[in-house]
Amino acid sequence: MNHYSYEQWLQYVKNEVDENVRDKYDSHLYSCDQCLEVYLDAVAQLENELPMLGDQDEFTNLIMEKVVQPQRVPFYHSTLFHYAVAAAMTILFISTGVFQSITSYTDLVHTPTLQEEAPTLTDGIINKTFAWMDSLELNNKEDNK
Ligand SMILES: [Zn+2]
Repeated sequence: MNHYSYEQWLQYVKNEVDENVRDKYDSHLYSCDQCLEVYLDAVAQLENELPMLGDQDEFTNLIMEKVVQPQRVPFYHSTLFHYAVAAAMTILFISTGVFQSITSYTDLVHTPTLQEEAPTLTDGIINKTFAWMDSLELNNKEDNK
């Protein structure tokens, strides 16, 4: 299997790859744990460049806006989508205990503030992300009729 480099994933996250190439990235990502990790790193890098992350409500509202508004560019291909997916995935990993064996990781994130606010933030993002994914699927099915 040919893996992609960190730079390539960064381009993917920033929507700097061609549409036809993009499909290969998509399918590779779903079948390769190694590249998924690199992809998440690239998303984390991008996260630093996104201004809205300091405000949880603003972030979820922004996602909801993207979801309800008809898009010239599909939300699926927007940069924010990657962040939402990565956030949801990371949270899923945490909640399923994948990260629990990594003590240094939990020590790192367990600042008092994060601990208190995390459940609301994560629940909100997960619910809204998956609610959106469901609605997208429905829309696609209707479009294809
Ligand atoms: Zn790979």
